[in-house]
Amino acid sequence: MRSRYVAYCKGNVNYLVDTRHPSKRQFDDRINLIRSVRSTVWEYLTVVRTQQGGKNHTNGYVEFMAVHSQPEWGQLHERSRFIKENNRWFYVDGEMLPPILPKRNQPCWCGSGKKFKHCHG
Ligand SMILES: [Zn+2]
Repeated sequence: MRSRYVAYCKGNVNYLVDTRHPSKRQFDDRINLIRSVRSTVWEYLTVVRTQQGGKNHTNGYVEFMAVHSQPEWGQLHERSRFIKENNRWFYVDGEMLPPILPKRNQPCWCGSGKKFKHCHG
């Protein structure tokens, strides 16, 4: 999962296509991914929790929050599903989750260091 995040940051579209489960690939994946990596600047990734995904598993789930600053500040909070076939993990799909919002006086999710209430709150 982290390697896919790095690929999004670096614009490694081939890797993103290769690690998507074959049953989920669409003819326009490549063009959509190129658009996405060109327009989006990712700032950081936080893994919230993982389930399964170990050596003896064939399923894995990763809940994460990733923050982007372009085209505007925002966060992607998702629970991704992976399956392992022929000893390789593939991204299958993801469930979008509501944004993770700190309390008013806690640091903002964007990483600015400001209190949430003075930033994106
Ligand atoms: Zn903020």
